[in-house]
Amino acid sequence: MFSKILIANRGEIAVRIQKTCRRMGIRTVQVFSEADADMLAVEMADETVFIGPPPASESYLVQDKIIDAVRKTGAEAVHPGFGFLSENPVFARRLQDEGIAFIGPNPGAIEGMGDKIQSKLTAIEAGVSTVPGSTDVISDEKHAVAVAEEIGYPVILKASAGGGGKGIRIAYTRDEVIEGFGSVQDEARGAFGDDRIFIEKFIESPRHVEIQVLGDKHGNVVHLFERECSIQRRNQKVIEEAPSPLLDQKTRMAMGAQAVALARAVNYDSAGTVEFVAGQDRSFYFLEMNTRLQVEHPVTELITGVDLVEQMIRSAYGEKLPFAQEDLKIDGWAVESRIYAEDPYRKFLPSIGRLSRYQPPAEGTYQGAAGTYVVRNDAGVIEGDEISMFYDPMIAKLCAWGKTRADAIDGMARALEDFHLEGVGHNLPFLSAVMDQERFRSGKLATSYIKDEFPDGFHGLPPTPFQLDVMTAAAVFAQRMAIVRSLGGHGGRDEWTVMVDRQARPVRVLPVESGIEIELTAEDRVLRLEGCDWRPGKAVFRASLDGREFTAAIRPAAQGFEIRHRAADARVLVLAPRQAELMAKLPERQPPDTSRMIVSPMPGLVVSLEVEVGQEVKSGETVAVIEAMKMQNIIKAERDGVVKAVGPKAGDSVAADEVLVEFA
Ligand code: ADP
Ligand code: ADP
Ligand code: MG
Repeated sequence: MFSKILIANRGEIAVRIQKTCRRMGIRTVQVFSEADADMLAVEMADETVFIGPPPASESYLVQDKIIDAVRKTGAEAVHPGFGFLSENPVFARRLQDEGIAFIGPNPGAIEGMGDKIQSKLTAIEAGVSTVPGSTDVISDEKHAVAVAEEIGYPVILKASAGGGGKGIRIAYTRDEVIEGFGSVQDEARGAFGDDRIFIEKFIESPRHVEIQVLGDKHGNVVHLFERECSIQRRNQKVIEEAPSPLLDQKTRMAMGAQAVALARAVNYDSAGTVEFVAGQDRSFYFLEMNTRLQVEHPVTELITGVDLVEQMIRSAYGEKLPFAQEDLKIDGWAVESRIYAEDPYRKFLPSIGRLSRYQPPAEGTYQGAAGTYVVRNDAGVIEGDEISMFYDPMIAKLCAWGKTRADAIDGMARALEDFHLEGVGHNLPFLSAVMDQERFRSGKLATSYIKDEFPDGFHGLPPTPFQLDVMTAAAVFAQRMAIVRSLGGHGGRDEWTVMVDRQARPVRVLPVESGIEIELTAEDRVLRLEGCDWRPGKAVFRASLDGREFTAAIRPAAQGFEIRHRAADARVLVLAPRQAELMAKLPERQPPDTSRMIVSPMPGLVVSLEVEVGQEVKSGETVAVIEAMKMQNIIKAERDGVVKAVGPKAGDSVAADEVLVEFA
């Protein structure tokens, strides 16, 4: 076996690969950029090599620097992780020429699958079902319309070189084809330096189902069943699971066989993923093959017990696969939530900053209310880390495994409650919302899920009756603790009015041995809060309510608390009854009028500011371009107006909500 491997990546995937190396007794070399000097993967590695400035184009993507680092440290192999150089056939070939093993497929396989038109042709030849359409390169708008009309609307225009959800446009009409053709071509030229476009049928209400394959250098290829990744925003996955609630055994085996046939057709000899788009009727069509480890590989590991990174290393070393297809079985169900530094309340825009609190739930086996579940958390951050604008904004991948899908989802919901982050915007409330939605639990997924369920954007979920009780009980407990601290030993009055988002609930507090009982006097019910160790100053509130364990996030606010349980949050006030009566008579405060301002939806860098003072601007016109985390955001005017003032200029950094342009 190799004695030393260099990891040409960063963050959570670098940590993930190192864990397997350590278990296999292989020494690790971790490369790092200036922005990553303190990252967990650097701390864990046996050796480290500095490779340059923060931008990936000057560090992680520079082949010479990686190869120099290999030579300097005497590593025998390189694991590229995903992204960066993982699907670059030139890099794979250079390593081969230098006698360094690439822990991934042979360069020919990467080349054969690197291009969407080429891979579709290979798939057709291998007998794989592909999306109806054409593999012709579209020459101009007229050609595009002719092909689209032959296929029948709706169609999807795709850049052959596309990836990461870029270079894709759906068209329902002739006009949309004409418009889409130009913009996809521009986007593809800019992002990939290759403007070849092709057109295929758009499968309506589609689901994303993919097959994990694994090959060795002896001609053996197996599949490790499917993952479903239909919960996507901007054509990018956020929640994945294995197996898929859509498939039956027959479809699973047919899809698996096609994926293996395709892998064989390109002599595939490592871990890879064949992606399909599936209809609700279980029809399925090949999309593309990713010739690398996939972000969501942990869910497959959880249901098969196979360590995919270990198998990639063994295949690269020349070992034979230790199992045949019939040795592989699905055990239970696993769900993954990608925890991103992004703001779900603002169209999932990336957020940056210092991770001042990072408290994930402990990994291991838990006894849930219904069944047992296992928590796995793949992360590469430590408390105090900076989430910078240079790299992918993923903070962690939280996985839960259970015997059944319901157990896995319940486990995930609890684990998400127990995940605590501060300092950056994050999508924990969004992930929690999905776990609590009846549609997700019933398995009726589609790639349009987020758009269907949150048509006006994400605003959290209204509290359920249980959550109202959680908020009421937690606020009363917290208020009493605060009073005990300031008055010394006395918890204040016994009768209060709790206001949850202006809804009044009179309560009477009855202290009991193990916690408190709260009588809801208007409803004739008693809540029993037990096992609570909360103290003023803590942001996490753990206890059980009527025997059910929960964790809520809590922070002090004027006269009360802001409390979030899963996707529901509210301002909760604990008032003397008389004070509550007065409060109910006060008019609700109106938010300030900001319709005259255009503000930055996220922190980032101003690429351009396209208007000046005195200029007349029409609704829909671009006023600025802001960049953060590899994403350019075009900020448009939402009404007509004359510019009265502009805030920043090109090259400035801006904070979220900073005013860019003010109208007269
Ligand atoms: P796909 O959606 O095509 O299946 P994945 O969801 O597996 O792709 O994500 C792979 C992509 O995620 C990479 O191509 C890269 O852009 C991005 N990515 C995520 N995390 C990292 C990371 N730590 N380093 C580099 N790229 C990353
Ligand atoms: P990328 O390389 O960016 O990952 P893919 O070809 O894998 O591009 O497509 C990304 C996503 O777009 C898929 O996960 C799927 O949701 C959607 N998609 C792609 N092609 C089709 C199609 N023909 N019909 C419906 N949805 C599609
Ligand atoms: Mg894809």
